[in-house]
Amino acid sequence: MPAAQPTSSDVSGFSTLPKPLASRLNKLGLFREADLVLHLPLRYEDETQVSPIAGAPLGVSAQVEGVVLSCEVGFRPRRQLVARIADETGELTLRFLNFYPSQQKQLAEGARVRVFGEIRGGFFGHEMVHPRVKTVREGEALPAALTPVYPTTAGLAQSALRKLIDRAMKQISLADLLPEALRKSLRLPEFERSVRALHHPQPGMSITALEDRTHPAWRRIKFEELLAQQLSLRKAYAARRARRAPVLRGSGALSGPLLASLPFALTSAQQRAVDEIARDLGTPHPMQRLLQGDVGSGKTIVAALAMLQAAEAGWQAALMAPTEILAEQHFRKLDAWLTPLGIKVAWLAGSQKKKAREAALAMLASGEALLAVGTHALIEDPVAFPKLGLAVVDEQHRFGVRQRLALREKYEGSDSPLPHMLMMSATPIPRTLAMSFYADLDVSVLDELPPGRMPIVTKLVADTRRDDVVARVRDACREGRQAYWVCPLIEETEGGGDSGRGGKGRDREALQLQTAVETCERLTAELPELRVGLVHGRLKADEKAAVMDGFIRNEVQVLVATTVIEVGVDVPNASLMVIEHAERFGLAQLHQLRGRVGRGAAASACILIYSQPLSQTGRARLKVIYENTDGFVIAQEDLRLRGPGEFIGARQSGSALLRYADLEADADLVEAARTAAEELLARQPAAAAAILERWHGGRSEYLKA
Ligand code: ADP
Ligand code: MG
Repeated sequence: MPAAQPTSSDVSGFSTLPKPLASRLNKLGLFREADLVLHLPLRYEDETQVSPIAGAPLGVSAQVEGVVLSCEVGFRPRRQLVARIADETGELTLRFLNFYPSQQKQLAEGARVRVFGEIRGGFFGHEMVHPRVKTVREGEALPAALTPVYPTTAGLAQSALRKLIDRAMKQISLADLLPEALRKSLRLPEFERSVRALHHPQPGMSITALEDRTHPAWRRIKFEELLAQQLSLRKAYAARRARRAPVLRGSGALSGPLLASLPFALTSAQQRAVDEIARDLGTPHPMQRLLQGDVGSGKTIVAALAMLQAAEAGWQAALMAPTEILAEQHFRKLDAWLTPLGIKVAWLAGSQKKKAREAALAMLASGEALLAVGTHALIEDPVAFPKLGLAVVDEQHRFGVRQRLALREKYEGSDSPLPHMLMMSATPIPRTLAMSFYADLDVSVLDELPPGRMPIVTKLVADTRRDDVVARVRDACREGRQAYWVCPLIEETEGGGDSGRGGKGRDREALQLQTAVETCERLTAELPELRVGLVHGRLKADEKAAVMDGFIRNEVQVLVATTVIEVGVDVPNASLMVIEHAERFGLAQLHQLRGRVGRGAAASACILIYSQPLSQTGRARLKVIYENTDGFVIAQEDLRLRGPGEFIGARQSGSALLRYADLEADADLVEAARTAAEELLARQPAAAAAILERWHGGRSEYLKA
C-alpha cells in the first residue's frame, strides 16, 4: 500500500514548506508536489487585455487600468473603502466593504493600478465591488495567457497557490505514463501537453471548452483519473482477495435435506447463484460477492444454503439485516428450516433482554450454535464468533459502508482468516455505476422470479375515494386474504427517505407514529369484522414480534404500518398493499413496498392513494411506478429523477476517487478506462503502478474505506 495515511490533525508532506502552508494544502487534499500538478483550475480569468473604462462591458469580468484620483474610508451606509480611478475615457468607482490597511495604501492617490472584476451600473456611476487590484508601471506588459483560478481554502491566496503549482510543474516528471499505442488509439493528447494547457491555456484556446471540461486536454486528464480509479478498485479487490479465508467445503449433509424439505425447487437463476457462491466459499480466499435480485426473487434461500455450507464445514455463519422486523423474519424462516435438521440458530437484537442475549452469546461462543441472525447488534462487541466463516448482509444498501464492513473489520489486522462475505440487495446497480462496482465486487444476479407469481396490479386512487379502498380491503379479507396499509411519511423534505437520527428526524418519527395510531383506530372502526394490527418503529421488539406473528398466522387481517415493513417482510397470503400519500415516497421505497405482495398464488394489487395537488416530481414518480414493475427500470428512472443518490457506498461506487471525471457525463471514457485497466494489469503492471502512484500515491485512505 502507498504512503502512510494522513490524518487531519497532523501535517503531511511538503517538508520544505512552512507548516501552516502545508496544512492548508493538506486541506485541499494535496500532500506532495505531484498532487499540485493535478490540482487543476476551476476556471480562468482573462487578464490579457485591458478595456477602456468607458467601453468596458457591463455585467461580465473585465480588466481596466487607471490612475487613482481619490481613496477614502466612508461610513455610510457602513464602513467601506471607496476609491476612484480614471483613464482617458472615463472614471470608475472601486468599493471594498472589508479591507486591509495595505489595500488602502496600495490605492494611494496617483498610483497606477490594473483592476479586475465585474463592472456594474451604480447610483453614482459605474463601479466595481471588491475588484482584484494590481499596482503596475505605465506600459507594463500584459500577461500572454489566461489566468487560472484554482479551488482554494481560507488563508491560501490564488497567487501563492499558482506559484506553488508552477514550481511543482518544473520539479515533477510530466512523462507520459500511458502506453503510446493506447494513447493514440483513444486519440488523447500527451500528459505534459494537457496539464500545461490546463494550467496555462495559450491564447486562442477555447475558454468555453476549457471551462466546461470538454477540451481534449480535459479528456486526457479525466481518462487517466478514471483509469487510476479502476486500477485502485481492482488492486483493493485483489488485496482483500489475497487474504486467507477458511475453506468451506460443503458436504451436502445439511443442504441436501433442506432442499428436499422445501415445497419448491430452486429457479435456475437461484441455482446459478448458489453454485457461484459455493465455488467461492470453497477457495482459501475471502469471497466478496453481491447477490442482487429484485424484490421477491428468492435471495433468502440462497443465503441459507451458503450458511449451511459453512455449517457443514464446521464454521459459523451470521446473517445481518437492517431492521429488527426483517431480522426476526429471517430468524423464523431459518429456524423453521433448520431446527428439523438439528441446527441451532442464535438470535441477537438490540432490544433483546440481557438474559436472552447472554444465552445466545454463550451458544455462539461454545459453538453450540453455528448460525446467528440479527440486526447490527451482531457486530457490536462483545459478540464473539470463535469461528465465523461467512457473514451475510441483507439489504446491504440500508447499512452504511462502515457498518457493512464492521462485521469483517473485526478480523482486519488480525492473523485469523477473514470470513467470506455475501451482500444482498434488491436495489439494482444503475448502468453508470456498474463499471466501478464490478471492479470491486463479484456479482451474482437473480434475474428471474419464482414461477407462478401473479403480476401485481397497480392502481392510482385519489384520496377522495378512500372509501372505495376500504371496501376493497374488506373484499380481499373476506376471501381469506390479508392487506397492508402503509401510513404516510411525514414530509420534511421533498422525497422522503431515511429519517435521520437527529432531533428533526425524531419529531418526524413522532408525527409518523401519531398518524399510524390514528389510521389504525379509524380502520378498526371502519372494518369492525376484521382484526387490524399496528406495527411501527417505536414498538418494543417483543410487541413488534407479537403483531407480526399474528399477521403471519392470519389472526390479524389488516396490518397498519409505518415504513418499518419496507424491506424484506414476507407474508405470502397478503395480497393487497395500500399506500397512503404515495406521492411522498421515493421510487425505491414504493417498489420495495409493492414487492411485499404478489408473493403467493393469489392475484395481488397495490393501491397508491395520492392527494392533490401533486408536485411535478411526485407526479413523475407515481407515473414511473404505475407504468413499471421491473426494479431495474425503476432504479434507472430514480437515478434520472433524483441524480445518483445513496445507491451504493462511496467505496463501491468509487466516486470518492474522482475529482474531475463524471461517471454519467464521461461514460465513454469510463468504458475505455475499464478495458485499459484490465490490459495494463495483465501486460504492463509497471505502467499501472506508475499511474496509481501519480494519482493516489499521496493518499491511501480510500483503500480502507
Ligand atoms: P427476496 O429476494 O425479496 O429476499 P425472498 O427470499 O423473501 O425474496 O423470497 C420471496 C418468496 O418466494 C418467499 O416466500 C420464498 O419462500 C419464495 N421462494 C423463493 N424461492 C422460490 C422458488 N424457487 N420457487 C417458489 N417460491 C420461492
Ligand atoms: Mg429479502
